[in-house]
Amino acid sequence: MPLCRRDLLKAAGLGLIGPALPSSQLRAQAAGQPHVAIIGAGMAGLAAARQLAENGLRVTVLEARDRIGGRLWTDRSLGVPLDLGASWIHGTRGNPITTLARDLSQPLYEWDYEDAEIVDLTGHQGRLESSLYELEEALEDLASLSADRADGQSVRDAVVHLRKDRRFAQLSDVEVDALLVFLVEQEYAADSGALALAAMDEGGAFGGEDAILPQGYDRLAYGLAEGLDVRTESPVETVAYSASGVSLHSSGQTLEADYALVTVPLGVLKAGGVAFSPALPGRKRSAIDALGMGLLNKVYLSFAEPLPNLDSLNVIRISDRPQAFPFWINLTEPAGAPVLGVLNAGSFAHELEGLAPADRVDAAYNALKSMAGDDVPALKGGLSTAWASDPQALGSYSFLPAGADPDERKHLAAPVAGRVFFAGEATSSDYPATVHGAWLTGQDAARALLKVLR
Ligand SMILES: Cc1cc2nc3c(=O)[nH]c(=O)nc-3n(C[C@H](O)[C@H](O)[C@H](O)COP(=O)(O)OP(=O)(O)OC[C@H]3O[C@@H](n4cnc5c(N)ncnc54)[C@H](O)[C@@H]3O)c2cc1C
Repeated sequence: MPLCRRDLLKAAGLGLIGPALPSSQLRAQAAGQPHVAIIGAGMAGLAAARQLAENGLRVTVLEARDRIGGRLWTDRSLGVPLDLGASWIHGTRGNPITTLARDLSQPLYEWDYEDAEIVDLTGHQGRLESSLYELEEALEDLASLSADRADGQSVRDAVVHLRKDRRFAQLSDVEVDALLVFLVEQEYAADSGALALAAMDEGGAFGGEDAILPQGYDRLAYGLAEGLDVRTESPVETVAYSASGVSLHSSGQTLEADYALVTVPLGVLKAGGVAFSPALPGRKRSAIDALGMGLLNKVYLSFAEPLPNLDSLNVIRISDRPQAFPFWINLTEPAGAPVLGVLNAGSFAHELEGLAPADRVDAAYNALKSMAGDDVPALKGGLSTAWASDPQALGSYSFLPAGADPDERKHLAAPVAGRVFFAGEATSSDYPATVHGAWLTGQDAARALLKVLR
């Protein structure tokens, strides 16, 4: 199993590695110490590995990909760092990811969503803007009721009901769809008909502004992994567990350890990408089935010349097909080069993923022309993501489907037989679907494991 150090060196050659956390905090891993095998070198796995190693445990991280970071993945092929997975630190105040970025000397670029332009190709702009806030408020009120009553409603069910209300009765189907794209689908990466209304009541949020990492989110993963035993290209196929320990099978090799921490994405668990022996308890399996894996796919377009008449950071595109290319981000200032990104969620994200990569870029470029006219400069390059078909993710992040109980996340997080622990964004009841949520679950799992050992 190749060691991550090689990848770190490879990454260093690419200029990926910035400062790392001090290795002196990692205590020498004594031979007699309990050995923890962690599956997955994303934020959850690395946060746990760091904490366990700092407490002197032997830690081995097995990662299926040839890189670390998981859903933190920065592409530099267009000459600037572009994040294919997470882009934002959501709420920088009190957020552990802000602290990590600071410890790793990573600059942040504050993201102002108010700096936005709306391009309405349907001709209803005024009405949509005023309805947006009213509908958001109405849905939030209903979401907390739905969570209390555990009525399993979808967001779409609630909207059907709300449309009988005088305030929303005038809205057309396209307008309602457009509002739902911006209010929920872009955030939860699921269609409003599939998403539980109670999802809008799940978890909490940090305060303060959002921010992006202009040098790339992956720098946090590489800084965090420095000094840890992380083995890439090591897909774990089976986790066997008993009262005496765990045994992990990966590419014809076996790793024996005292405990395992599983941090693979929910999509991988759903697909049975890791087999467990004995099989996981029924409660765990039903939680895996009950939670949903959503889809958010990005397309980036880069240009040789600056885009004329584009001054805002965010552009909202409202068209007769509201899910198609709705939310654009202008990275010209933070990236120092004319680059736009566009985010697509739910069923349109699946449809886009079904196209060849060059066709996704063409489709996004045509959507841009539909708002900005034919004087858009020629494309220099383009990139797109395909998270649903990525075998190590099988989706972008988890969501609470209509009919599912929010407590499923707790069942997903629960350790099995005192030997197999679970972490990762989908196990977070407090901050699901986020980088900080993943980080905090990694730390929680490490603490739970340390408690077992005391
Ligand atoms: C397009 C997109 C946009 C997002 N935007 C944001 C955002 O702006 N802000 C935000 O806070 N969050 C965002 N998120 C969510 C955030 O990226 C995730 O919640 C977080 O990174 C998940 O971390 P994790 O450790 O739980 O999982 P992962 O990062 O997926 O780590 C799990 C690791 O397990 C590995 N693995 C899988 N199978 C195996 C196996 N069999 N053996 C060994 N290893 C295996 C994977 O390769 C991966 O490295 C976004 C996600 C996506 C996809």
